[in-house]
Amino acid sequence: LHDDSAQLISKTNQYGANNYHPLPIVISEAEGVWVKDPEGNRYLDMLSAYSAVNQGHRHPKIIAALKKQADKVTLTSRAFHHDQLGAWYEKVAKLTHKEMILPMNTGAEAVETVIKAARRWAYDVKGVESDQAEIIACMGNFHGRTIAAVSLSSEDEYKRGFGPMLPGIKLIPYGDISALKTAITPHTAAFLFEPIQGEAGIRIPQPGFLKEAYAYCKQEQVLFIADEIQSGLGRTGKMFACDWEDVTPDVYILGKALGGGILPISCVAANKSILGVFTPGSHGSTFGGNPLACAVSIAALDVLVDEQLAQRSLELGQYFLNQLKKIKSSVVKELRGRGLFIGIELNKPARPYCEKLKEEGILCKETHDTVIRFAPPLIVTKEELDWAFEKIKNVLELF
Ligand code: PLP
Repeated sequence: LHDDSAQLISKTNQYGANNYHPLPIVISEAEGVWVKDPEGNRYLDMLSAYSAVNQGHRHPKIIAALKKQADKVTLTSRAFHHDQLGAWYEKVAKLTHKEMILPMNTGAEAVETVIKAARRWAYDVKGVESDQAEIIACMGNFHGRTIAAVSLSSEDEYKRGFGPMLPGIKLIPYGDISALKTAITPHTAAFLFEPIQGEAGIRIPQPGFLKEAYAYCKQEQVLFIADEIQSGLGRTGKMFACDWEDVTPDVYILGKALGGGILPISCVAANKSILGVFTPGSHGSTFGGNPLACAVSIAALDVLVDEQLAQRSLELGQYFLNQLKKIKSSVVKELRGRGLFIGIELNKPARPYCEKLKEEGILCKETHDTVIRFAPPLIVTKEELDWAFEKIKNVLELF
């Protein structure tokens, strides 16, 4: 007999560290865009595990790849070669148009990797004085939860009690080109940014910012590093959010949907002149680039390309955003979005609205208190979005 949701939640609360504040729902099954609780209630997933499930839950082609590889070999460590890594490298390199790939597992680990790469590049290639390298990041950013990643953050609650923070970091207001120009010095190794800030509440920089920032970084010999962990792989209606401004960053950081919502796999993609700074012994991870994750990731990227999920996100996202604009509610302050990456900023806390939407069969989560993020799997249909729209409209207009 299955425990019911209340018992399952109470067990979770009894033994688990209290570092999350989930909505009161237990998911015990999922398929495509739909999830179910143990009582059999069905919900439309409009969060997609923070965009890790762009391909939909348990996509049959990715599950098939997982099962096939699970019957062969799952983990070798990097002490030995394995037969999936080369093919995966090639696929990611072609997708990003970069020469080299470095695999890790989680997004935060890939961010750590990029900081190490940028610093070593600054010393070995740019000629910055030893231990003086600086990284410029943006206020409101989210790059993960490790010490390096929270050191980049402007959010007090991400950092409180965890000091001392990593030195060599400067923050500028997001999208402020003159602040970027002022912040850059001969010691600057890299400018690290999200092309659209996800956790900050789907914040889109001023048109032209990325292009101008890229040109200035080039001129000043500063690495231009895009954290596309959440915004990349079709989410915003283009393969990468940087494509919106036709900018190719020096470095991509990818994660989340790279593993098709099935296994954690992340990476840094860049040319040899940058990633070539790593030598044996300078970096690594026991599980990074393991055969199971590589096989899953190859299938996940094939699904993304074969099913044209970026294009789908573009068209359905535009449609859904236009629908949402029709909502007449005094609580809505602003609506922002690119593709199926949409934020509704309210003029009051969003949590009660997320709880109410859950009761109506829609799963979403507030971010930064006042923003509701809608980011369904990219395989969602127009009919499913229409269904969701009616519920969202009712909740925002009547609740
Ligand atoms: N960078 C961005 C832009 C993210 O959105 C996230 C996760 O939300 C991360 C980094 C961290 O990824 P992970 O949670 O896999 O460490």
